Amino acid sequence: MGLLTEGTPLTWEETKKLASHVREHGINQFINIYKKLKERKGDVLKWGDEIEYIIVKFADEKREAKVSLRAIEILEILNEREHQHPDTVKYLWRPEFAAYMIEGTPGKPYGGTLAHFNIVETNMKMRRHEASEFLKEGECLMSITSFPRLGCPDFTDPPTKPTPHEGGTMSLFFPDQAVFSGHPRFMNLVRNIRSRRGEHVAINLPIFRDKNTKIPVDESHKVRKAAKPDCVYLDAMGFGMGCCCLQLTFQACNIDEARILYDQLTPLCPIMLAFTAASPVHRGFLTDVDCRWNVISGSVDCRTEEERGLKPLKENKFVIQKSRYDSIDSYLSPQGEKYNDIPILYNDEDYRKLRDNGIDHLLAQHIAHLFIRDTVSLFSEKINQNDEEDTDHFENIQSTNWQTMRFKPPPPHSTIGWRVEFRPCEVQVTDFENAAIVCFVVLVTRVILSYQLNFLIPISKVDENMQNGQKRNALKEEKFWFRKDITTHVSPPEATRCCAGTCCEQKECDLVGLMSINEIINGKTGDFPGLIPLINSYLNGMDVDADTHCTIQQYLKFIQKRASGEIFTTASYIRKFVTEHPDYNHDSVVSEIINYDLLKTLKDIQEGSKSCPELLGYSATSKTKENIPHALKNDY
Ligand code: GLU
Ligand code: MG
Repeated sequence: MGLLTEGTPLTWEETKKLASHVREHGINQFINIYKKLKERKGDVLKWGDEIEYIIVKFADEKREAKVSLRAIEILEILNEREHQHPDTVKYLWRPEFAAYMIEGTPGKPYGGTLAHFNIVETNMKMRRHEASEFLKEGECLMSITSFPRLGCPDFTDPPTKPTPHEGGTMSLFFPDQAVFSGHPRFMNLVRNIRSRRGEHVAINLPIFRDKNTKIPVDESHKVRKAAKPDCVYLDAMGFGMGCCCLQLTFQACNIDEARILYDQLTPLCPIMLAFTAASPVHRGFLTDVDCRWNVISGSVDCRTEEERGLKPLKENKFVIQKSRYDSIDSYLSPQGEKYNDIPILYNDEDYRKLRDNGIDHLLAQHIAHLFIRDTVSLFSEKINQNDEEDTDHFENIQSTNWQTMRFKPPPPHSTIGWRVEFRPCEVQVTDFENAAIVCFVVLVTRVILSYQLNFLIPISKVDENMQNGQKRNALKEEKFWFRKDITTHVSPPEATRCCAGTCCEQKECDLVGLMSINEIINGKTGDFPGLIPLINSYLNGMDVDADTHCTIQQYLKFIQKRASGEIFTTASYIRKFVTEHPDYNHDSVVSEIINYDLLKTLKDIQEGSKSCPELLGYSATSKTKENIPHALKNDY
């Protein structure tokens, strides 16, 4: 989840005094990185995935499933292995926000040849297997986006109680013990975000209204004025950052290619969010949303009342439209510039300093914009730094701007190049699905670069898509703004501003149209080519071994079927399971027993002991292998 600096965390009062120090030095540090590395080129395509997991503990005799707070113990063993064999471990394990979560990545990145697609799923399987070795009886490592009864009474193992009047979280529902305690960063963020905001974070998710649904949903609104009676109210960072995702990182060959990838993948973020929708249940209630995005966004929203526009500006400088976890606000490539149609806030001095140091307008505005956020996590040992060598202050702000995309400079003194991170996807139940999604997104990047495709649309339209993409059943029912002609190259930079910022409000302009995810992914004859047909035509020209070919085709078939609505999203599968459960009272409540049966079923699907064609399609098997065939190794 970001920078894990060791040390003594500072309180918000202490941190606040140092906010401008961090801003000043963070920007200096970026300038130094940029000067050293802007010309870096010749890096090859490398990429990797990150999967976050929840440790679930089943008590079969009681038909209960809880989150197990043992991440710390499991990580200790896994990290000891890494420590012993840093160069040969096949998987890397890191802590995440919650005491019941762990995050795993491949030990080494994948490379540029197609054969790598055939080892992704096995790596995911073995990764899961490795961590599962250290589970206790009844525990299971599950790649689920949200734990359905998070924050319900007794949702943890061992049992814990929330402490609304003391401690760090001070939640009505989420106990401090459910926050990962092996590193001070996490609880420090909880405290400082709440302190900076001046009140508890507040998320109100509209409840799914069934025929017996009770409004008010519960008693929360009597205790907290932020709680809305017809919503599921959540009041802690853990409700958001305690959710899991699937992320991808790409290394580009140079900074310009990284900017192109950053921009071109941006319009795909809401599409992939809706496509991977997997979290319809929160705090034991079926809600009217399918995705985690707004939950996390609200869960780390440290903006003050002034910044949220609720009070006139006095202490603060800006009214800020979004939380620090949200969709990006600006494109970075020259082609993208004219689609930057929402206000991009920054301190003029920061922007000026970046410009005076040779950084172009788009990058300067991006960096200055990241720095409108105060640091919310600072360690006393790290205050004074050498800006020529250290990058902690830059990373501090960069890694607490949790956005749909992240633009990452090379780490100092490393062999790693300029990278972009693709962050919207919800994690899926099976390794097959996760591998399919990962390979699909990587193939999209290959097609973008090879065919010089252009997906750019005004950022305001991407934002609209982000909101629509989270609605119940968005994949089937919503339409999304998408660029109609993705194959005409734009010569950068075109002089005129995109008309879509102005004329789209009156009529649909020529540039963008509303499309379903089915049309975007599978195409529409005569109108839109579709991502899968483009990928297939790209693959036709490539040499690939038979097994990899078969695996990729299985993945693409799965993507096609899900896009067309022939099979369920995880979210719609979960909804159906809950609403058809014999114990369900049509009151939106996901009881302990429904939760248990649901998670047990997902566990069986994950392990392959239950086939689930409605979620995976009929032929969800691949020819994935542990290693790349010997003959293709040279390409690694
Ligand atoms: N768990 C967060 C999510 O679901 C991401 C945290 C991270 O940046 O690693 O988006
Ligand atoms: Mg993470």
